Amino acid sequence: MDNSVLQQAKQLLADKSKKIVIVSHVNPDGDAVGSSMGMYHFLKNDKFTNISVISPGSFPEFLAWMPATEQIIIASENQSKARLAIAGAELILCLDFNDMGRTDQLAEALEKASAPKILIDHHPDPLDQFDLVLSQVSASSTAELIYEFILALNKQHLIDDKIAQCLYAGIVTDTGSFSYACNNPRTYYITAHLISLGIDGEKIQRQIYDTYSEDRMRLLGYCLSSNLKVMLQCKTAFIYLSKNDLSRFNYREGDTEGVVNYALSIKGVQIAAIFIERDDVVKISFRSEGDVNVNTLAREYFNGGGHKNASGGHSSENLENTIKTFEKLIEDISKDDFRLLRVSRDNH
Ligand code: 5GP
Ligand code: MN
Repeated sequence: MDNSVLQQAKQLLADKSKKIVIVSHVNPDGDAVGSSMGMYHFLKNDKFTNISVISPGSFPEFLAWMPATEQIIIASENQSKARLAIAGAELILCLDFNDMGRTDQLAEALEKASAPKILIDHHPDPLDQFDLVLSQVSASSTAELIYEFILALNKQHLIDDKIAQCLYAGIVTDTGSFSYACNNPRTYYITAHLISLGIDGEKIQRQIYDTYSEDRMRLLGYCLSSNLKVMLQCKTAFIYLSKNDLSRFNYREGDTEGVVNYALSIKGVQIAAIFIERDDVVKISFRSEGDVNVNTLAREYFNGGGHKNASGGHSSENLENTIKTFEKLIEDISKDDFRLLRVSRDNH
């Protein structure tokens, strides 16, 4: 961790009565909630007295077990409270995103806020919207960076089981239970330390992954049996869901989390996608294998971004046309084995 950045962060955290806002991205995942709540409990343990955690939107139920998630201000449900907290903040901690646009309707309020903003994140190419940037693309998760940050502040003794549970959840979810973005011994040392504090890693795994409703499980079955298209000659497979499909299975926040990974599990598939019809746009998630960079794909063609092997974006065309556009694009860029997307630089 860069020493001068760390010193500046220390200064910004010198006054424990400061009004601190912790904010993460829209469609919060385990790392967004885990890193936010890990930071929240750390600041509490460090005797900060005025901390608000804001999420642009609601989070999936399978993350609600993390201690104190009831404290989270869901901006889409309580705009005025979220905006008031941001306007009154004296320090803003931006976690697990690097482009204010990822905070949805909060972006403008955050950009206007007078408080200094510290970014802690692991996505490539942060925008120039933050006063202090702690960014490490090689980290498995932002949760891992929160751990490193606490250590760099010499506050390791404050890591209790609440912090450990939240950070563990962030690491587990962002690595797909240690199956990607984790070829780094450091991730395992950190995980080992968190487990050594007495948390129940097996229980956390069950709470996140073995809590499907019947509807969610049947939606997954439907995706795989009816709405999966495999373009094996293009090393691509994708899944699509219309609004009707979602309502048929009583869709709830988080129900499509992880579905795209099944398409990537097909032998010979290097790019997977899922297209989900929402009210105004089609939300897209991309996943890829190895050095095929779907961050570029999301950025260049689908108004999004993310990591090398996990990215997302959206399209304003309808579902059918979005899929057509994607198929044509894939047919085109797969002709030379995705040369356009292959990268040599270390870009998770
Ligand atoms: P997911 O597909 O699970 O929604 O997101 C995968 C990754 O892509 C995450 O790291 C997320 O931050 C990023 N991502 C998803 N949607 C968008 C988007 O619309 N814009 C940008 N810039 N990143 C996205
Ligand atoms: Mn993350």
